[in-house]
Amino acid sequence: MQEETDLNIGQAARQGLYIQTFGCQMNEYDSQKLAKIFESSHFEAKSPDQADLIIINTCSVREKPEQKLYSELGKLAELKRARPGLLVGVGGCVAQQEGSRIIKRSKVVDFVFGTHNLSLVPSLVKARRSGLPPQVAVDYRDGWEELPLGFKGSSKISVFVSISRGCNKNCTYCIVPVTRGKEVSRPFHEIERELRIAIHRGAREVVLLGQTVNSYGRDLTPRVTFSELLLRLSKIEGLERIRFTSPHPQEIRSDFVEMMAGTPKVCRHVHMPLQSGSNVILKAMNRNYRRERYLDIIASLKEAIPDISITTDVIVGFPGESESDFEQTMDILEQVRFDSSYSFMFSARPGTRAAAMEETVPEQEKLRRLQHFQRRQDQITSESLNSWVGRTGEILLDGPSSSDPSCFQGRLSQNILVNLQSAHSSLRAGNQHRQD
Ligand code: SF4
Repeated sequence: MQEETDLNIGQAARQGLYIQTFGCQMNEYDSQKLAKIFESSHFEAKSPDQADLIIINTCSVREKPEQKLYSELGKLAELKRARPGLLVGVGGCVAQQEGSRIIKRSKVVDFVFGTHNLSLVPSLVKARRSGLPPQVAVDYRDGWEELPLGFKGSSKISVFVSISRGCNKNCTYCIVPVTRGKEVSRPFHEIERELRIAIHRGAREVVLLGQTVNSYGRDLTPRVTFSELLLRLSKIEGLERIRFTSPHPQEIRSDFVEMMAGTPKVCRHVHMPLQSGSNVILKAMNRNYRRERYLDIIASLKEAIPDISITTDVIVGFPGESESDFEQTMDILEQVRFDSSYSFMFSARPGTRAAAMEETVPEQEKLRRLQHFQRRQDQITSESLNSWVGRTGEILLDGPSSSDPSCFQGRLSQNILVNLQSAHSSLRAGNQHRQD
């Protein structure tokens, strides 16, 4: 890249880059891309005080995201005084929403960049280093933003690859359509090339990322369906497993279940957000499906792939949620028996339609519903894990266990984390291991 080369001019040694990432896998992916952009000019700093450039990649989904950002910036003020050459940039969803307001509010910040402007970061750094005032780049793009392919650093067994950006769904509680813009699919050849680079460096599994992965390809010419994408990727030699997150129930097409069942490399796991089991609340959330449709999809998946793992996201205490609405969410939990779930109490995000709705569920009651849901989910999760005792499964080995370095860790196709005694001499990261 031109900017990357320019950053090296006149530098005797590479500088330190520290990236602090909040939020989802998409943000993690973007941070990996930023590290890649600066690969030739910056080394990875282990802490902010070793860095010449600090980038905070923000998330709007967390509670009180702005307070969180300004508290992080406050912590950097002293460091910046001590190291006048230090530059601080803010990216991600809060940056996209707030833009120049961040610079007005914090003297620490040298540049702000939005979710469509990662490729501009080197030029923002350069402008600031040349004495120009704090920089802002938050314009949306119509097409796919080209970024360097591949990743920096040591190879991983499982890599994220983004296949689309943005979202056209407009769920009433969600700020993503504002912070990430309209949905844009990544050209197939780019996905394929990035994946081939990752495999060459040792990856064996890919996690395809998108806000609604299964609406992939609608905007491409010629059109490609999500199932076709997976089938094509499954032909890549060296790739052993394909995962994806997250499909939207409204976008599940008839060929999806068939593709899942008939493509061995596609993992036997689907994370499909439910959000609520009540049709009234699903409508208020603008989710565009009914509980019956959700249950039908799950039934077809379970029929076609009996050992499939199903996980989900749930929000409790959405405005207007009655006790009977909540009971319908509990009812779906009982019917589907999710292997695990992420569950949250509703909390309004500024700028969303739900923020203008009247909150009808007191915080105490939201908490009660959440705890009730989570207690039951924990029981089901534990029963589901116990059902694996005595069964044989294939584990893709990842490396030493994060909780116990004397063990190896890996995952079943169902996305269940497994620790193995590393006394097995045959254990190697990247290998598939059969275990009873
Ligand atoms: S599908 Fe709904 S919840 Fe998911 S990113 Fe789009 S608007 Fe947000």
